[in-house]
Amino acid sequence: MAGQRDVLVLYDERMLAHRPDIEDRFLPGRLDRRVREILSGLEVKWSYPEHPGRITVVRELLEREPVRGVRFETGAAATREQLGRVHTTAYLEDIYAMRGQSAWLDVDTTAMSAGSVDAAEVAAGTAIAAVEAVVEGRAQCSFALVRPPGHHAEPVRARGFCLFNNVSVAAAHAQAKLGCRRVLIVDWDAHHGNGTQEIFWADPDVLFFDIHRGAPFYPGSGGLEETGGGLGDGTTINVPVPGGAGDVAYVRAFREILVPAADWFKPDLVLVSAGFDSHRLDLALNLSYEGFSALAGIMQEISDRHCPGRLALVLEGGYHTDALAGGVRAVLEVLAGATPTEPMECGLAEVEQAIAFHRDAFTRD
Ligand SMILES: [Zn+2]
Repeated sequence: MAGQRDVLVLYDERMLAHRPDIEDRFLPGRLDRRVREILSGLEVKWSYPEHPGRITVVRELLEREPVRGVRFETGAAATREQLGRVHTTAYLEDIYAMRGQSAWLDVDTTAMSAGSVDAAEVAAGTAIAAVEAVVEGRAQCSFALVRPPGHHAEPVRARGFCLFNNVSVAAAHAQAKLGCRRVLIVDWDAHHGNGTQEIFWADPDVLFFDIHRGAPFYPGSGGLEETGGGLGDGTTINVPVPGGAGDVAYVRAFREILVPAADWFKPDLVLVSAGFDSHRLDLALNLSYEGFSALAGIMQEISDRHCPGRLALVLEGGYHTDALAGGVRAVLEVLAGATPTEPMECGLAEVEQAIAFHRDAFTRD
């Protein structure tokens, strides 16, 4: 252990009310027909992958196997003013008008049920609460265990299971109300955070670093040459990697690209869009629990160097529930003070063991 730290996990049962059921009838009808046409072409029966069990399974693991130094608080609902810092008035009015109904918000299968608007307000507000806790000094770091996720949501459009862009709402709140000027957002979800990139594309006071499986993997954006525009030219950093990329590649990208960029930017708040669909069991990439713990260690080093005690993580994706829960727990252990293990290339440790096991088998006595 490298010394105990105080970690606050924010969790709110109101987020369980977001539960789209594809057997339901959805508004609007024309979008319903289109989505069903897409789904009917699938060989296996499709169910909505972003379900309440994603966060209950994490909560249950942390109750069964607690991490010393981690405590829980409930979240809060975001206000229209808070959401309006990153989403347009017209978009918010459209979403609010669907409160209490089942609707398809986008043909890429972003859906909502009767409780979804309330749940999404709580997800965004809980990300804000996580930032307030670290800026106000109530915790050394925080983890907002939220859903629906946020990083695909654009200023005018819900996408990829996301309604409101939680991490962006939290960053904008920190700038508007908490006296933070420069915010670093790091996105290690398997998918590119297209919404976050769009929101802060021209903002020189938000440095956005995103490592993800590159196009044509969903959502297809996040190319190397996408580096921001206008006043924010240079403050967007994308590292697209091929399917199967793993711990060693990620740690190298963090050390060789993110760390120098953070030293140049000098953030006074560090946020992480922490998705766990980059774990190997989620089948897009090849990260392990050791990989996530190494990334958490680097994030802690960055915030310790530039803005001690101001590190907040916000959950994004992760659809294999065991990998999601195990990944969150591995990260929390490091945030709470455990020393991260330096990950090796997948299989190398086993090969080393096998070498030792077979070493003398074929030598002549
Ligand atoms: Zn994802």
